[in-house]
Amino acid sequence: MTQYVYRFGGGVSDGGQGDKNLLGGKGANLDGMASIGLPVPPGFTISTAMCTRYYDDGQRFPDSLRAEVANGLTHIEGITGKRFGDAADPLLVSVRSGARVSMPGMMDTVLNLGLNDETVEGLAEVSGDRRFAWDSYRRFIQMYSDVVLELDHGAFEEALEVAKEDKGHFLDTDMTAEDWQALVGSYKKIVEQQWGKPFPQDVNDQLWGAIGAVFGSWQSERAKVYRRLNGIPGDWGTAVNVQAMVFGNMGETSATGVAFTRDPATGERAYYGEFLINAQGEDVVAGIRTPQYLTRAARERAGAKAASMEEAMPETFAELARVFALLEDHYRDMQDIEFTVERGKLWMLQTRNGKRTAAAALKIAVDMANEGLISRDEAVARVDPAALDQLLHPTLDPAAPRDVLTSGLPASPGAASGTVVFDADTAEKHAALGEAVILVRVETSPEDIHGMHAAKGILTARGGMTSHAAVVARGMGRPCVSGAGTLAIDAKARLFRVGERTIKEGEVITIDGASGEVMAGEVATVQPELAGDFGTLMAWADGARRLKVRTNAETPHDCRTARDFGAEGVGLCRTEHMFFDAGRITAVRQMILADSEQGRRAALDKLLPEQRADFTEIFEVMTGLPVTIRLLDPPLHEFLPHEEAEFAEVAEAASVAVDTLKRRAAELHEVNPMLGHRGCRLGVTYPEIYEMQARAIFEAACDVAAKTGAAPIPEVMVPLVATRRELDLMKAIIDDTAKAVFAEKGREIAYLVGTMIELPRAALKAGEIAEVGQFFSFGTNDLTQTTLGVSRDDAGRFLTSYVDKGIFTRDPFVSIDTEGVGELIRIAVERGRATRPEIKLGICGEHGGDPASIAFCEGAGLDYVSASPYRVPIARLAAAQAALKNRV
Ligand code: ADP
Ligand code: MG
Ligand code: MG
Repeated sequence: MTQYVYRFGGGVSDGGQGDKNLLGGKGANLDGMASIGLPVPPGFTISTAMCTRYYDDGQRFPDSLRAEVANGLTHIEGITGKRFGDAADPLLVSVRSGARVSMPGMMDTVLNLGLNDETVEGLAEVSGDRRFAWDSYRRFIQMYSDVVLELDHGAFEEALEVAKEDKGHFLDTDMTAEDWQALVGSYKKIVEQQWGKPFPQDVNDQLWGAIGAVFGSWQSERAKVYRRLNGIPGDWGTAVNVQAMVFGNMGETSATGVAFTRDPATGERAYYGEFLINAQGEDVVAGIRTPQYLTRAARERAGAKAASMEEAMPETFAELARVFALLEDHYRDMQDIEFTVERGKLWMLQTRNGKRTAAAALKIAVDMANEGLISRDEAVARVDPAALDQLLHPTLDPAAPRDVLTSGLPASPGAASGTVVFDADTAEKHAALGEAVILVRVETSPEDIHGMHAAKGILTARGGMTSHAAVVARGMGRPCVSGAGTLAIDAKARLFRVGERTIKEGEVITIDGASGEVMAGEVATVQPELAGDFGTLMAWADGARRLKVRTNAETPHDCRTARDFGAEGVGLCRTEHMFFDAGRITAVRQMILADSEQGRRAALDKLLPEQRADFTEIFEVMTGLPVTIRLLDPPLHEFLPHEEAEFAEVAEAASVAVDTLKRRAAELHEVNPMLGHRGCRLGVTYPEIYEMQARAIFEAACDVAAKTGAAPIPEVMVPLVATRRELDLMKAIIDDTAKAVFAEKGREIAYLVGTMIELPRAALKAGEIAEVGQFFSFGTNDLTQTTLGVSRDDAGRFLTSYVDKGIFTRDPFVSIDTEGVGELIRIAVERGRATRPEIKLGICGEHGGDPASIAFCEGAGLDYVSASPYRVPIARLAAAQAALKNRV
């Protein structure tokens, strides 16, 4: 026969021994606390397996459970010396739900179960406190009616209010025994009216009603929604805990409280929490009375008058502090605790690993390792890499007042204040004058890049977490709030409306990319702290990781940021953004619209010195480190002029007629540009473009080597290769150019030529391609698009349904599709290495900063990942965690 009931407390443990899957988190830790000798009221846990069986059997309990529960009650009775339902000295219990992970939507706890019209008198007698007994009874009826009978709780609250008003009382604590007794009378009437039956007087009916309600709540709508949102399987089930009551409402020496063993906001090693004298359970969090601080220091810091627990109950507080230390030793983590004091005696009612802010997580991990409580590797494993994001950006001063206008999606973390502008050019112009601006757009597109770069923050009315604005902003480390749907932007009138309010261009707003809030005016921010604990943990992480971490960056500023964040090279320097630069776009357009090689070369000659300057600056910042430069990739039409004035400008520069240009522009139109004339196809058709870029790279490299004495390590990367022959042709151009430049400069620089692997064919033919290419960089954005046949820019319309229906577990553009795309990568790694064992393998693209994808890269045996500058520390930590996991 399967055992469903597990006893704990009073020196008895049925040996579920910390098994959260079986006993739920609460039950496992009650047993755990009791087992290390902490004062825990005795009780028993009905296992999660019962919950599953209950549903399998059509919501019925097996007969064997009755006997097991009776046995569990006997255990409690034996230890407390009280009997359940005994009119003279009744045992009261609490009935508490508890799944594996704490889960809103589950049944709320019922306290004081076992009271009825008879036992309440017995309780009054033995406690010598009538007021306490009737207070407990009224609490019980109210909770049971709400939670188990599911009656409307408004009527009970109203009855309490009326009772207090009648007596002229403000506080619950003002109520006398007689007042509570009268209220119990009113409560019972309400139950009868609403439920059609009198309040259950049989204590066993009460108990089974509550047990059934806990299991019933597992399939409540709220619980189901929560499980869906958090990926919790429906067959986990919840446990039920039945536990002897201890009473915090037995007068001035009794209390109830909640505490953390360390400060969950800062991580500081200081007891943190609140308690209430003469109160029970929820009173602390329910806001019925203002709770008091745990420690004197906290009380003084807050300038509060009411005595802290340390002052009001020094002995019990000392006991609590001793328990804190034992719990941290046992669970080796910061604990979140619920406790009750009954007439001076401390009782522990719950403990679990406490939730904490990113800053606290970092500090606690480092402190605990330094205290010897955990190892450094464990400290590294404990901090969620994604949480680091919060720490790397300036954040809003929590103490500063906020005038919230609206909110959107928290698309890119960090906070920024600035004057509102509605287009990229204005953003750039104002920023050049030293003004902080927030770029506000309905949505952004590649033409806005320069404005996004110039802006301190980006706000859009449309678009999700993977919209252009969100992705680019995250890449740049700019705070971004996207999809703020209530913004009505009137770019012509240069204003936006939100509700009743209108914000005009030039007015200041603040956005919080971590919460999605948009505020009027400036809100003070605080700068992140990158030294200290952050630096310590990152150093430990670096000691544990195998993967190198590079950055995706194309400006000296971004390269500098990334290097400061620990980047070990550039994994992807895109060159197209450089072409958008205001000073060059005309020459770029002239090149594209030229109808002869000669025309193109004329334009390219103008671009060469500019490109060389770009690379010179980047090489200077990255001296001694490898820099992978990707040759021009996007379809040419992205650079085309749109406005009349732009055509005129190009016509003048190139000395051709506007009409000719327009005709040529029309010719360049593509039906499906993503699969069109781009990548190395540009190099195949117009070799002079790549030749110019290669020349710029090698000239810059020679110049920097001459100037600094430290040669940069250029890695020239050819995009969108599908065949070996393409790479052959491109490599020849690059090598010839290198040779020519080295001859002119009288100096040779070591360099590599390699390719992106971003087409399935390239992955499959990696063996051949590696005969030419000296490195592969997996361009997983395009590889995902081309493998799934899904356009990232259009996926928004159906991706959510795909994730909801479990076709994808996560957005494959955020976290790599390890099965499909992953298989292609594994094939390419294997075939590439077979041809060229020393081949360098890395990944660029958004996935390079995603912890789950980084774990995949570790498993696939890549040499490095490359992430946007602000994601570099996240990648370093994630790479360390992946290495540690692989080690066990
Ligand atoms: P939750 O999961 O919502 O925290 P709990 O089951 O922990 O619910 O119960 C909430 C509160 O009820 C506890 O913090 C404690 O104050 C009180 N409580 C629960 N069981 C008992 C008990 N046996 N004796 C006294 N108070 C209890
Ligand atoms: Mg609790
Ligand atoms: Mg690509």
